[in-house]
Amino acid sequence: MDFLTPIGSLAGIGKKRRESFFALGITNVEELLYHFPRAYQNRGNILSLAMTPDGTVGAFVLTVASNPQTFMLKNRKQITKFIAFDDTGKCTVTFFNQPFVKDVFHIGDEFRFYGKLNVKYGSREMSSPIYEPIVSGKKLPSLVPVYPLTEGLTQKILKSTTEYALNTLIYENYDFPEVFRKITIEKMGLMSLKEALREIHFPTDIEKVKKARERFVFEELYAFALGLSISKKNIKKNGNGIVMKDADVSDFLKLLPYSLTGAQSRSIKEIIADMSNKQGVSMSRLLSGDVGSGKTVCAAAALYVAVKNGAQGAFMAPTEILATQHYNEMSVLFERLNIKTALLTGSTPASEKRRVCDLVSVGGIDIVIGTHALLNDKLVFKKLGLVITDEQHRFGVRQRSLLAEKTKEMGYNPHVLVMSATPIPRTLALILYGDLDISVLDELPPGRKKVDTFLVDESYRDRLNGFIRKNALSNQVYIVCPLVEDADGEEEALLPFDFTSDDMEVNEKKYMMSATTLAEKLQNEVFPDIRVGLIHGKMKASEKNDVMRDFEQNKIKILVSTTVIEVGVNVPNAVLMVIENAERFGLSQLHQLRGRVGRGADKSYCILVSSTENEKSRERLNVMCSTNNGYKIAEADLEQRGPGDFFPNAVGDVRQSGGLRFRFTSLCDMGLLKRAFEEAESVLAEDDKLSHPENKGAFDYMQKLFSRLRNS
Ligand code: ADP
Ligand code: MG
Repeated sequence: MDFLTPIGSLAGIGKKRRESFFALGITNVEELLYHFPRAYQNRGNILSLAMTPDGTVGAFVLTVASNPQTFMLKNRKQITKFIAFDDTGKCTVTFFNQPFVKDVFHIGDEFRFYGKLNVKYGSREMSSPIYEPIVSGKKLPSLVPVYPLTEGLTQKILKSTTEYALNTLIYENYDFPEVFRKITIEKMGLMSLKEALREIHFPTDIEKVKKARERFVFEELYAFALGLSISKKNIKKNGNGIVMKDADVSDFLKLLPYSLTGAQSRSIKEIIADMSNKQGVSMSRLLSGDVGSGKTVCAAAALYVAVKNGAQGAFMAPTEILATQHYNEMSVLFERLNIKTALLTGSTPASEKRRVCDLVSVGGIDIVIGTHALLNDKLVFKKLGLVITDEQHRFGVRQRSLLAEKTKEMGYNPHVLVMSATPIPRTLALILYGDLDISVLDELPPGRKKVDTFLVDESYRDRLNGFIRKNALSNQVYIVCPLVEDADGEEEALLPFDFTSDDMEVNEKKYMMSATTLAEKLQNEVFPDIRVGLIHGKMKASEKNDVMRDFEQNKIKILVSTTVIEVGVNVPNAVLMVIENAERFGLSQLHQLRGRVGRGADKSYCILVSSTENEKSRERLNVMCSTNNGYKIAEADLEQRGPGDFFPNAVGDVRQSGGLRFRFTSLCDMGLLKRAFEEAESVLAEDDKLSHPENKGAFDYMQKLFSRLRNS
């Protein structure tokens, strides 16, 4: 057996079960072993009956005090009951339709029970708990992994399959493919892959699990840093851009219904200076700006200059909604300048795609706006002079260079402008965008009003609904939820895989709102007279577009959504942003969401709904209430949660974001990130193609990480 052994060839996995594993993205042994627990049940922390409040899920060590009795209930279910006790009190233990447990529990025997304790009128009960006999000389595991599941798989199956695979590899003395060089492992004091996998799946104690987890976080950051550094080097090498001689944008600016802010003028000047520099060095610039700071018009000005100089422009946005919106805004403006624009997304009909590609190849279209559909090989430019990617951190450096590579055979490089979705703290920008010059839009257009922000809990629900109604009648409202579907109803006290997370509270799922359920409830029960819409990442692009159009046209008054609306959506009539389970979001993400309102003439509000009692979480949310300055918020986010939130893996529509799919970066801290980049630099300095056998693991991991890019 090795990492590439197909999952279907493991003992006990038939065709049906194999399909279930496929559904989890597990096709071979490596993927099985990298399918990590999402949490651990803490069965090692033994609670006492008397001190534990109603509804708590946990472990109890109890002695059986009565013979189990089985009764028939009216609904023909069988119930088996017995009494058990610890030093502090007694408890009834019940099982449904499992009369055989009679033979398991004998008076005087000790068991560890794990489950929910119900306390009613002073009497305690546990219903169908997990039970393990206490046998002297045999230690029960204190941490039990809980895996993400899918239909047809149980915790037990995942656990035993994983155990079988890992034990076989260890038994066969398998040479676990290390990503790191030996020297890195030693220098960083990292756990070996073999040991780390064992701790992740069969933990011996929390500290070791943390250490194992750190190894996997570092592994991913290191691969990311390698990929980024290699792409950076490729971009840097290429100097020959088109010199844009005519840098006059006054005709374009005249068409704008407003005058530019100081920051916009300065940034546009910097961009044009890059594009027209006499040495012909092509631009590599990041335009960083707060939500609503007016990045789009800067991009449009740059596109205008490119076209004016006989070149074409490509503008890539991360979602179809955004691409369409940019297209609608820009095409009107450019039409008046006789500049031809086209839209190209995944849902553009084939015939239209062909038409656009044909025209672009002969220069009949000047500017193409779209999603990653622009990366398609069939789109060949006559003379691509400028590449802009919006909200870039969702794409990763790789896609940026893929688009820029379209001119490779023509022997020159397009100018590249990258726009960040959120303000990025300078320290982080220097690491993640080290190869780029930076322009900052640190000034909002005049007349922008502060969005008043409040933190409320469940007790405000009725008042909140009243407030939603009022704003839906006068304007429009967004409601954002962190999940698409209802959680599976599992209620457990779990140690989240991310032990540092403060937000995972006991039974937290109970409070989780889901967009679909909430939308139905609001429409049917709370606002039957007001049109409520729903949008989330699992919907088809065409459905999303329909909903967005109806919201833009003010037909939908209340839009319930997941974080699909996070980036860039512009509906000025929306004045209220309600964010459910706000503690689930990073500050930068909350700020981005809040930026969807406050865009029109009317006073806007943001309501953060959270019942969290966690001190740190509340403090974090209060930052939102105290400032509207995106850079301040980003700094606070970086300080409090680390750089994880600046990677495209935050809660919500992970897959639909179309970005790199990171698995562990949410757990990283600034120090680890820095060290990963240093390590990558030092490895590449010796072996810039990663061709040394010791770097093969790193090369493979990097390829895998970057190929998780969505290419639809
Ligand atoms: P973002 O930086 O978030 O992408 P946008 O480019 O979407 O921001 O701009 C937000 C809104 O501000 C748009 O409606 C745009 O027309 C408007 N806007 C941009 N610049 C100015 C300005 N200088 N004065 C007034 N309004 C502006
Ligand atoms: Mg924008």
